[in-house]
Amino acid sequence: MNAAVEELRATLGPDLVRVGDDIPQRNWHDQVGMTPTRPLALVLPRSTEDVSKALAICHRHRQPVVTQGGMTGLAGGAHPGDGEVALSLERMVGVEEVDPASNTLTALAGTPLYLVQQAAEEAGLMCGIDLGARGSCSIGGNISTNAGGNQVLRYGMARKNVLGLEVVLADGRVVRSLNKMMKNNAGYDWTQMFIGSEGTLGVVTRVVLGLHARPRGVQTAVLAVDGVEDAIKVLRAAERGLPGGLLVFEAMWSEFYGIAITTIGVPAPIPAGHDLYLLVEAPTGEAGPELFEEFLAGLYEEGLVKDAVIAKSKAERDRLWMLRESVYEYGKHMPKAVGFDVSIPLGRMREAIDALRRDMPKIVDGIVWVVFGHVADSNLHVNAMPPVYGSEVKLAIEKVVYDLTSSLGGSVSAEHGIGRAKKPYLGLSRTEPELALMATIKSALDPAGILNPGRVL
Ligand SMILES: Cc1cc2nc3c(=O)[nH]c(=O)nc-3n(C[C@H](O)[C@H](O)[C@H](O)COP(=O)(O)OP(=O)(O)OC[C@H]3O[C@@H](n4cnc5c(N)ncnc54)[C@H](O)[C@@H]3O)c2cc1C
Repeated sequence: MNAAVEELRATLGPDLVRVGDDIPQRNWHDQVGMTPTRPLALVLPRSTEDVSKALAICHRHRQPVVTQGGMTGLAGGAHPGDGEVALSLERMVGVEEVDPASNTLTALAGTPLYLVQQAAEEAGLMCGIDLGARGSCSIGGNISTNAGGNQVLRYGMARKNVLGLEVVLADGRVVRSLNKMMKNNAGYDWTQMFIGSEGTLGVVTRVVLGLHARPRGVQTAVLAVDGVEDAIKVLRAAERGLPGGLLVFEAMWSEFYGIAITTIGVPAPIPAGHDLYLLVEAPTGEAGPELFEEFLAGLYEEGLVKDAVIAKSKAERDRLWMLRESVYEYGKHMPKAVGFDVSIPLGRMREAIDALRRDMPKIVDGIVWVVFGHVADSNLHVNAMPPVYGSEVKLAIEKVVYDLTSSLGGSVSAEHGIGRAKKPYLGLSRTEPELALMATIKSALDPAGILNPGRVL
């Protein structure tokens, strides 16, 4: 047995350090679609102290470690590489405190997001982080990827919701700032460095989140508009015309809508034939649903909105959301997809859509593709499904999407991170001095390079 694994087992015991057939499939892969790989060993710490002991041993042996949360990542960050020890936070679960005076919640990093959301709701508050993977992703994973999701427009990305962190460094040292205060300018806010660092700088073991008042009277609608410029006009009109602004603003272009209502079979709230469909949610509070209806009626009279349907019940709201979430069903009905999560400046999004419509069909006959996303945050998701999947066609699709993204001044990762999957493209979105600064930070914090090697940089 490898000397590092032997020492891990001797120190933490065989229940916390699994090898061989005792390592479940769950820990062999994330959701990016790479070939599942069994890690050299699986460490299942129950406490920060266990994480600290494990990393100190791996550091001494120069043993590469991959940190794992809920394994829902879409960049290959938690996907084990050959010879890596997987350190999974899956046993470090629990909301330790909700503090109503400071509106904060403290949780262990392995806690699934839905449990964090539930605890906030039970206290009459809400967690600003929400995404489709809420049932499986961990709050530590959300912070390590600086996750976005459905409510970024209102509450920002994960970063904006974090007040404090506890982190174990590559050599096992524990650094803790379980800060609950909105203001704390005592020196560097080192916690920021670990948010979005995808497990390359340290292991997050505990988090303090700022919570929010729960929005009241949330209204949901699907609207049809004539292209992205009109969608942005609707967005800006809502910011001015609705007292609580918007919570959700999700765009689904006609290609996406067509597949949702035909291949996937989601009921069509609005007849097909429009260019762009928007799923919007707004809290109307005291003003009640009438205000939302009046607002949309005004946009319809102006000609900005071509058609609209407003949910009148929770069941209707769920049906509208099925449209957006139809993408999670693709695996059952469609060929394997090459997926993208790019940012495009809003003023150039029309050019991006036009270019995709022009260039995608040229890649290979029979390619099916869709575009959708958290458009208010400049975030587009593109899924391209060639009739036959292979590395050549994958590269050709990536070339089209990433060249376009780069030429429009966008980012190759809006919210999923770089991980292993997008590492070759990082240079399209970051300059040499930026990459050199990242490398300096990495070598200062992890001089032996044991944490998530080959990810990001
Ligand atoms: C159906 C579905 C919907 C999704 N929707 C969204 C969305 O709307 N917005 C969005 O941003 N993402 C989305 N994702 C991607 C994914 O859910 C997020 O990236 C999520 O934050 C990953 O959390 P996780 O716990 O599953 O992390 P993992 O997949 O386990 O790990 C992700 C990365 O974080 C690192 N990591 C995990 N935990 C820790 C820790 N405690 N300390 C240090 N590093 C750690 C890993 O090493 C890896 O690099 C979606 C994924 C799916 C499958």
